[in-house]
Amino acid sequence: MSTTGKIGVTTENIFPVIKKFLYSDHEIFLRELVANAVDATQKMKALASSGEFKGELGNLQVEIQLDEDAKVLKIIDNGIGMTEEEVDKYINQIAFSSAGEFLEKYKDQLSSIIGHFGLGFYSAFMVAKTVTIETLSWKDGAKGVKWTCDGSPEYKMESCEKADRGTVITLQIDEEEKEYAEKGRIQGLLNKYCKFMPVPVVFGKEQEWKDGKYVDTEKDNVINKIEPLWAKKPSELKEEDYMEFYRNLYPMQEDPLFYIHLNVDYPFNLTGILYFPKIKNNVEISRNKIQLYCNQMFVTDSVDNIVPDFLTLLHGVIDSPDIPLNVSRSYLQSDANVKKISTYITKKVADRLDDIFKNERQALEEKWDNLKLFIEYGMLSDEKFCDRAMKFCLLKNTEGKYFGIEDYRKAIETEQTDKDKKVVFLYATDAQAQYSFIEAAKGKGYDVLLLDCQLDSHFVNLLETKLENVKFARVDSDSIDNLILKEEKIRPELSEAENADLGVIFKTVLPEGNEYFVQADNLGETAAPVLLTQNEFMRRYREMSAMGGGMNFYGEMPSSYNVTVNMQNPLIAKIMEAKMAQVKPEDVIPDADKDASEEVKKTVEDAKAAASQAHRTELQSFARSNEILKQITDLALLSNGLLTGKALSDFISRSAKVIEDAYL
Ligand code: ADP
Repeated sequence: MSTTGKIGVTTENIFPVIKKFLYSDHEIFLRELVANAVDATQKMKALASSGEFKGELGNLQVEIQLDEDAKVLKIIDNGIGMTEEEVDKYINQIAFSSAGEFLEKYKDQLSSIIGHFGLGFYSAFMVAKTVTIETLSWKDGAKGVKWTCDGSPEYKMESCEKADRGTVITLQIDEEEKEYAEKGRIQGLLNKYCKFMPVPVVFGKEQEWKDGKYVDTEKDNVINKIEPLWAKKPSELKEEDYMEFYRNLYPMQEDPLFYIHLNVDYPFNLTGILYFPKIKNNVEISRNKIQLYCNQMFVTDSVDNIVPDFLTLLHGVIDSPDIPLNVSRSYLQSDANVKKISTYITKKVADRLDDIFKNERQALEEKWDNLKLFIEYGMLSDEKFCDRAMKFCLLKNTEGKYFGIEDYRKAIETEQTDKDKKVVFLYATDAQAQYSFIEAAKGKGYDVLLLDCQLDSHFVNLLETKLENVKFARVDSDSIDNLILKEEKIRPELSEAENADLGVIFKTVLPEGNEYFVQADNLGETAAPVLLTQNEFMRRYREMSAMGGGMNFYGEMPSSYNVTVNMQNPLIAKIMEAKMAQVKPEDVIPDADKDASEEVKKTVEDAKAAASQAHRTELQSFARSNEILKQITDLALLSNGLLTGKALSDFISRSAKVIEDAYL
């Protein structure tokens, strides 16, 4: 027998098209060929177990042979093989027409299609000049068939002598693709794509270090030594098996916090193991650590169109034959199966965390700091996950105690409900820098949360929208009494002029470059004379815009602070007395008669402006000369960490002097 023929393709010459458009992923040819060989081997197993095949199975495996010098790569299996009719049917007709259809269907988006299109056998022509198939079917009386094609649509089919059942695919690697005739490259590709295939894949011999170089041993180099743990039953596995498997997948990573074993067969088929890695901050986030498999054949490690964004922070494997691989990435997201899979995985992740919350509370608390960023990110980016997570998300207070959100609300409700019936969640973002404010809150019997992670300013906003009648207040955003207002406060009665004076006095001694809102308040005799705070909402907007959350307008504004002057503090009372004594009230110049001439009106206006300026100058020099005023303002700056450099060193020498004056 010897025939030649023209392959049944609609496209005139398919190879240039394959080569031209699918250049980025030439490497997948190896995956496709090994997958075919594995399939053929598994079919053989199936025939044997159904009793249809009664002969000797032999050692079922797939072998890859490479002759680097000759640039010849062979994929050898002892699977079912093909008869002449089958080669004609599967290779000459079907394979080509499906490749043709494929190219026809996706020709508009070819360049955006990534890798896994499943061109099958014909992807061999992306890297090979000539492809030869030598095959012997398992069927009784079958004869060997040899099929050769040099990349033109013409093939040659003839009979051949082949002693063993199975198929040998021989690629004469193209000069332009010579990397695929390098041992290291092939080993790398096999490791990437075939690590978990269900039939042993052998590539040469294992090597050992001997007399200063690597030499082959007697042992076969089996690529897929590690069992695909996800294919086993969870009930057969122990915690240590999961950890061991993780270390095999990611040798350089720290052990994960928790894992989930996914296993569903209806309405779609999916297995897998997902791990929660330790994530301490944004910098450490590594995506693309989930590997997608299709029947144990590696497909890709970018699953971003298959699972919600926050889940790409997880590590592990997902294996599903139901994720369509031969479509463009953008199409994936709208695929009904992919949507179901994505919802399923999100739900499973939430279920697992809920279960940990209920049954492994202590472990959850111990690991929370490394898990928090993941959960908060999930809550911020996925509404459904957020609603579930409200039940298992923890809050940590400044004393290192953890609470569920509802439990926390219950714990603080009695003490921290304000006059408007809002429960105020106090929080600090930096336990050191906000120490004095935290202490002030504790002094009142309040509890303070620690929210010091990058996402917390967004997270606080989120919780406020999710929790009814709850408001968040950073401990240093106002005096503690104002943060949780229990009753309408009696504000000090200051005239407009007195208020204006207070503003001038304090702005004189505060550092330039910021904006200050000076206001008088009654905070009690023992409370600090001056309190510097940053408005809660302004600050949150600034933080969010700094993180790139939009709203840049706020980011560019100068920092603004509220300066609360405690009129009940004796030092303030004394300073006010001194002001009365040293600064005379502003001259009151009567308004010009409405009938007065323009000239007279102008003179009166000028006199008013001059008087106001003079008064201002007087207030400023009073403020500058009053050391106690400077001292108490600096103390307020100091508790916000705003006193640095020369101002700090001046403060220290002034303090020494104040102490001397008082003591000596
Ligand atoms: P697919 O694997 O998606 O069906 P391919 O083009 O890779 O498409 O292969 C076409 C067909 O050729 C296969 O379905 C199979 O019947 C046959 N085939 C390919 N490789 C082998 C092999 N190594 N052994 C036996 N049959 C094979």
